[in-house]
Order: sequence, then structure tokens, then C-alpha cells
Amino acid sequence: MKIRASSLPDLLDCAARWEAKHIKKLRLPTSGKAQLGTAVHAGTAAFDSSILAKNPVTVDDAAGEVVDAIWKPREEVVWGDDLGQREAEGIALDLHRKYCKNIAPEQEYVAVEQTCDVLEIKDLGITLTGTTDRVRKTPDGLGIVDLKTGGAAVAADGTVKTAGHASQIAVYELLAGFSLGLPITAPAQIVGLQTAKTEKARRVGIGEIANAREALVGDELNLGVLEMIAKMLKAGIFLPNPRSQLCSAKYCPMYLSCRYRG
Ligand code: SF4
Repeated sequence: MKIRASSLPDLLDCAARWEAKHIKKLRLPTSGKAQLGTAVHAGTAAFDSSILAKNPVTVDDAAGEVVDAIWKPREEVVWGDDLGQREAEGIALDLHRKYCKNIAPEQEYVAVEQTCDVLEIKDLGITLTGTTDRVRKTPDGLGIVDLKTGGAAVAADGTVKTAGHASQIAVYELLAGFSLGLPITAPAQIVGLQTAKTEKARRVGIGEIANAREALVGDELNLGVLEMIAKMLKAGIFLPNPRSQLCSAKYCPMYLSCRYRG
């Protein structure tokens, strides 16, 4: 069974929702919020890729990707009263500039948007796939960098939310290590990009996750998360979580027919 790294938060939050999206292939249109994140990813990736290719473009040139993602999305996007295209463009452009000016100059990337199509883990019967945002070079070896946009990505004191991301980051470490053919040994970084409506509250920052693979892989005494997932998929049991923050018609394609949300 194939698992996209980007779908792991869904799988660990409400497995029934993951099944609906990734096995039953039920679809919801993309939300404006999600598209805002896609736009920031597109602009910053264009900027970092150009530096990696030793053909740097300006921050404003790379911002063209942000504007295109907002105004010419590749998928259907539902813009609402809470976030329209014009406002999303302003937020995304501001975060793009803050990232390019405050975060990117401190990093030495060796890979940008590194795709790994297939990492087969035969003994568990699962295949991992996905695209790692960045791989950086550090004195401690290579490390993963994952960009996270969101309304609670960076606290007022500048702390970046890292809790709950370890399993997904660990999958990115496996994928990047496999596709680059090099070990990933440095702590991972979460680059938080706060999608606040006011300019002042739009913060960017970095948080670290060390030893992300511990929980994912497990040891002789403890099952790893990956093994638990493999057992769950093999059994065909997808536990619902009606207490999930995403248990709503906006985020779950089977919300109307779900018998578990009570
Ligand atoms: S409606 Fe709620 S409990 Fe049911 S699958 Fe969706 S998120 Fe999970």
C-alpha cells in the first residue's frame, strides 16, 4: 500500500478520513487556506531552486509563482468570505518576502523539493512516497527542512510549533536519505510561516526536531508508528476520530455520511 508523506497527518489524526481520501478517492475542492500555503511553497521553492542552480532570481521575480498559484490555481479552489483571493495574495507575498529575506540567507540547501517516487519497505508491505521541501547542509550532516504555513505556526514569542510533526518529518528523512543516497543525520527544522491577517502578526521562524525517526521506526521493546500503520492497513481498520479539529464538512469528504461523528 502506498502512503504519501504529506497524507500522514491525516492518517494519524483520523484514519477513516484518510481512507475516504486516499483509498475511496473521495475529493473535496481545495480550501483557500490550503492554496495560500501552496502559493508560499511555490514562491519560496522558486527562489531557493534558483540559488541552488547558481542562477539566482530576485525575491520579486520568484514572487511571480506566488501570484500564479493564487490567481491561476491548477485545481478548483473554494475562496470564502473569511479569505478571498486578494487577501490571500497579500498574506502569501508578505510571507514569501519574509522567508526569502530572513530564513533563506541563513540556509545552505543541497536539495529543494526533492521527490522520491518509491521507497518500498518490503517487510511492512508499504511503500512511502513524497516530496521533501528542503535538505540542508549543517556541521552535523544533512538535515530536513519542512515549511509549514498556518494560523498557529509561530507563537507571539517566536516559538515555532513542532509538536505532532515528528512522524511526518521522519518519513521525509527516510525519503530524502533514500533518494539522495546519503544519510540524514542532523536535526530537522520546521520553518513556521504564520498566516495572520495583520502584517505585524505574520511571523516566520525556525523550530527543531531531533531524533524524529525514534518514534517512527521503534526498537526491540516498542512498536514504531510505521509498523502500527502497516498493521492497521493490513487489517483494513481505519479508526475514526470525531474529536479531530478537521472533523467538518470543510475538511472531510465523508462528513455527511460518516456514522461515527455522533
Ligand atoms: S466525519 Fe469526522 S470522524 Fe468521520 S471520517 Fe470525517 S473526520 Fe473522521
